[in-house]
Amino acid sequence: MPKRYPGAAGAALRADWQAFDREHIWHPYSSMTTPVTAFPVASAQGAHIHLEDGRELIDGMASWWSVIHGYNHPLLNQALREQLDDMAHVMFGGLTHRPAAELAARLIDLTPPPLQHVFFADSGSVSVEVAIKMAIQYWYAQGQTQRQKLLTIRSGYHGDTFAAMSVCDPVGGMHQIFTGILPRQCFVPAPNCRRDEDWSGQEIQELQRQLEHNAHEVAAVILEPIVQGAGGMRFYCPEYLRQVRLLCDQADVLLIFDEIATGFGRTGRLFAAEHAGVAPDIMCVGKALTGGYMTLAATLATRRVAHGISDADPGLFMHGPTFMANPLACAVASASIDLLLAQDWQQRVKAIEAALEAGLAPCRELPGVHEVRVLGAIGVVELNRPVDMQRMPAQFVERGVWVRPFRNLVYVMPPYVISKEELARLTAAICEVVGEAGVRS
Ligand SMILES: *Cc1c(COP(=O)(O)O)cnc(C)c1O
Repeated sequence: MPKRYPGAAGAALRADWQAFDREHIWHPYSSMTTPVTAFPVASAQGAHIHLEDGRELIDGMASWWSVIHGYNHPLLNQALREQLDDMAHVMFGGLTHRPAAELAARLIDLTPPPLQHVFFADSGSVSVEVAIKMAIQYWYAQGQTQRQKLLTIRSGYHGDTFAAMSVCDPVGGMHQIFTGILPRQCFVPAPNCRRDEDWSGQEIQELQRQLEHNAHEVAAVILEPIVQGAGGMRFYCPEYLRQVRLLCDQADVLLIFDEIATGFGRTGRLFAAEHAGVAPDIMCVGKALTGGYMTLAATLATRRVAHGISDADPGLFMHGPTFMANPLACAVASASIDLLLAQDWQQRVKAIEAALEAGLAPCRELPGVHEVRVLGAIGVVELNRPVDMQRMPAQFVERGVWVRPFRNLVYVMPPYVISKEELARLTAAICEVVGEAGVRS
């Protein structure tokens, strides 16, 4: 293969690859004409990201919830290498492999007992699409073809594909661009209760009302249990979740939990639904599933849902991504789960929670800060106004930490391997940068 292939793009790349990147490559939620700085990463290790210019950053993001064990973990590297020697990939239609079965068994044992069937998807958004298709097809199979709507709470985030987008918060999710294409779903206000002691019963009334009136056209309620992630980094009380389960049972509506962000210990429980002790009919996991190594997600379903779909016409569940159950991803996911369970991860997450509580507490006194909240290994500083996205990430980088805010939220969910000292530096940097932002505005 020629080392220096011809072409104008190749020439531009060789002249300055970062300029080439800015000019030609879409980054997440980015503009092609006014791109924000993307810092070039050379490598990453543990809770550290190494930039090409030699600077080292303490990672506050776990690469969007996923890298729970830190970067470049020897055991996860080994699991990948061993799988690579057997096969990197093989189609899942008509063929199967041990890595998929190994992972499915772990997921079935770790998630709430009624979940017994696993569909492997290639990203979180796809697993949400699959969950929604399962719910609608379940009712189709029961002869209830009018049950095609989803009911959800505002401020949610479920992914960027169309069906997933349709259940994201209508304002934050930019629904107006796709009006007329997006399926119209039913929304109720997001719960405000923080702890069960705050529970008044008021919170659930709109959901109850909608279920009473619209259950005949609702296939499922879908929500993120306990923590709403990218839709606003909101936490709410377990009692709400218990009430939702109760109402879904009464109205005979399916319940979907999206645990893509909350799964694998992040909130202090292995899955956030455990805070409430309730089980969904369908559940999505992703993000930390592979310890942040590969893209993989899964949709789990109860026997009732899986058999309901399969026992009626057309008898098949019509979905099958090309890279479904990729063996490399499955192998590293099993290794990541084993690594998590082999340690006292509850203690680890508790220690991070305490350090975030203590380290972010001074932010409460700063001008421009609306609220500081911490749950498990998640810390959030909510500001009164949106942050300057050109400026703030760079200010964090100058202080040797990696924090990427969005809207008015400065938040962290570090890898579980982060040390006490690193957490102290991370939270100190947040207080400094947030303090400066407050003084300026
Ligand atoms: C990130 C996320 C998704 C989407 O996952 P992708 O892998 O980015 O497609 C869905 N739901 C929740 C709760 C998420 O946090």
